[in-house]
Amino acid sequence: MSEIRWSAMLGEWVIVTHKNANRLLQESDLPCSICQSIEEIKEKWDVITQDDPDALLQSSDGPFELDEEIVIGAPAYGFSKIIIQSPNHNEQIEDMDDVQLTKVLAEYLSGFKELDTKKGIKYVLQFEQRTKSKGYKTDHTHAKVYALPFVPLRVKREIDQITKYQASFDTCMICETIENEFKTRVRVIRESDNFVSIIPYAARIPYEVHLYPKKHVASILELKDDLSEMGMMIQDVVKRFSNIFDENEYVMVFHTRPSKDSHDYWHFHIEFYPSLRNISGLQDLVEIETGAGILTNNSSPEENAKELRDTL
Ligand SMILES: [Zn+2]
Ligand SMILES: [Zn+2]
Ligand SMILES: [Zn+2]
Repeated sequence: MSEIRWSAMLGEWVIVTHKNANRLLQESDLPCSICQSIEEIKEKWDVITQDDPDALLQSSDGPFELDEEIVIGAPAYGFSKIIIQSPNHNEQIEDMDDVQLTKVLAEYLSGFKELDTKKGIKYVLQFEQRTKSKGYKTDHTHAKVYALPFVPLRVKREIDQITKYQASFDTCMICETIENEFKTRVRVIRESDNFVSIIPYAARIPYEVHLYPKKHVASILELKDDLSEMGMMIQDVVKRFSNIFDENEYVMVFHTRPSKDSHDYWHFHIEFYPSLRNISGLQDLVEIETGAGILTNNSSPEENAKELRDTL
């Protein structure tokens, strides 16, 4: 049974699964577990959400009030879902037509809406981790949804920075960033009516891309009329990665507002992190990050943005 443990040293929650990491690595040659699991579905479907068979979090355990001082460990309460983005094993984001892409995002939206109001849930994390590497069972296109009883550290840091900025300058940091990026456009990759993709000024890894809605909205719920356009812009980033990398491996994470209380200051966005395996000679960076939390980006955000702009 998974647990959530508080790391007092680093001030963050860690999910401990008690699984055997070595054993997980050896399972990579198995047939696609998603294709196997969908064989039983009789009705016709294009996108479907299921309970994650490898669930990190269990809705039967809890909720527990985690308080970082007294309750420093508890069973990992929450919900783990998997969004199967296509019945077709070989259909990736870049292969989808507009109708399928819009259905995929509508599934993200309805999953978010459902889990956002569940008891004890503080954050709904939605992400796609696309990989062919050893240790993962499938490259069948899918996203994961974790409804967590805490706000992830990375999001907390963004909340701190954005609220500080708001207090000092009385404006949204991301709205301001979008405006500033349009002045030079050196880091802008693509602009549509309602979205823009950029490489951030201080990109933490090569080819890190952020996709911002131009409207100041806090979650995907306020983007329900823009799903088709958002799907097109996500696909645009993925296609550019596919053109540049031999093996298109990346993590795409939705950064939404927390589930409890009001978060009008928050500006919803999506972040893309290509695997460092894509980029020769850069694997060592992971080690530095793990040991000291310092990231060295051995590339130029402006040149990477130009390369991504020019590739399509
Ligand atoms: Zn499959
Ligand atoms: Zn904003
Ligand atoms: Zn973010």
